[in-house]
Amino acid sequence: MNRRALSLCVCVCVIVYSTQPLLVQRPATTASPRTVPIMSVDFSLYDLEFLSTADDAWYSVRVVLEDDALVVKLLNFAESADERFRPGDFELAEAVDEFVRRFRPISQQLQDRDCSRVVEGMAVCASFAFLDDDIRFYDAVVESVHYVDHSFTKEEECLCTFVLFWKHGPNEGNVTSAGIANVCLVQPFPQIDNRVASFTKMVKEKIEIASLISGSASDCNASLCTNVMPDKENSHSSIGEKSSLSQHGLQVKDGVRQFGSFVHLEEGRIGKCYEKILQDTDLGGESDMGEIVSHHFILIENLERNLSPASIMEFMHRQTSIAPQAYVFPSLSSESYTRGAIVLDCLKKLKTIRDFLNSPDHIVISSRGRPWVISENFLRHGPFRTTLESLMPISPNRSIVDELKVAHRGTKEYRTAKSRRDLFMDFIEHQHRLHKRLALEEKKILQLSAAD
Ligand SMILES: [Zn+2]
Repeated sequence: MNRRALSLCVCVCVIVYSTQPLLVQRPATTASPRTVPIMSVDFSLYDLEFLSTADDAWYSVRVVLEDDALVVKLLNFAESADERFRPGDFELAEAVDEFVRRFRPISQQLQDRDCSRVVEGMAVCASFAFLDDDIRFYDAVVESVHYVDHSFTKEEECLCTFVLFWKHGPNEGNVTSAGIANVCLVQPFPQIDNRVASFTKMVKEKIEIASLISGSASDCNASLCTNVMPDKENSHSSIGEKSSLSQHGLQVKDGVRQFGSFVHLEEGRIGKCYEKILQDTDLGGESDMGEIVSHHFILIENLERNLSPASIMEFMHRQTSIAPQAYVFPSLSSESYTRGAIVLDCLKKLKTIRDFLNSPDHIVISSRGRPWVISENFLRHGPFRTTLESLMPISPNRSIVDELKVAHRGTKEYRTAKSRRDLFMDFIEHQHRLHKRLALEEKKILQLSAAD
């Protein structure tokens, strides 16, 4: 396939789109080096990629210092789409550091003949098409590559397949197949852009002065999302945690994005642990104290039947420095495995755990080699009553340290675990079809009964 032809097509679409005065949905950052320069835009000015605070997609941008603000201008977008950052948007130095990490050099698009440069384990910037004229770029990791002979019918065409594990975007946490046209190489970042550097230097100076004036550093906020044991904030009502957002001094945007299937949250300027649940009336339960007890959780399948929740908690803390709550559910006597859940109040931390579990570099297995399976990749949100903790009491005599381990890619243990995991996924798939059939047959019986 001719990469340049594709780019031109996308670019023209974007130009047409950008003539609209109001951009409800941003189309792709099918930007500068990714496209053929047309019209009078000076593409050389758009020399950075920026991770948008609105949708976690990467856009080709140029940055401009206006008074004390840093303005991020998106290629092929109207001025109204500019993202503007002021010193007042940051209250902590770590938020400034996180902001700096939103910039990087433009990722490099590949010609078909260069596909061998894409290798397993590589971080890439991958395209996702919302619509023909709305293609956006998100971070992904190459889980595996299937090289095949190229076609030379007209010109060299890469027919290889790249299996991507998505770190952001609508496919976040999922694994999908892609062609070379969907993959761009993330470029090394030798140094921070000068304009970003001078802006962040000024912001940090202002933060320092403000903290001197107030006479106290903002230590209370520093603990908002730190991954240290004990994980105190997880025991708090999430409402209390959310109210501290304003103390952080970070602006909350109007845009609301739906995450997964259940969770609604406001996007903050800087990704921190301060998600706010806007709408969970169906899910938020009430405890005996009348307090809303609602958590984020992920379900795990194919656990050993005698696994203790303490093992999961200890293992997850050892691997990720996050201390979640964990539950192991009773199974049917006919089942050789059971299910469990990892529960947290902090969505960001749960995403970290989910990313760890979904990493293509390893598989979590039991001491007997049974691989964990995440069959539903979305993170759930809802009431998780503490009484569940008593479902599986920990056996006092058992060592919890060795019940779980990590099988690393490239080892025999990993290959066996992967085969077992694939088998289990097939089994789950089969079960899904049976569930649908059951529901259908039930409906038939009910319809017949109603007709009588
Ligand atoms: Zn190829």
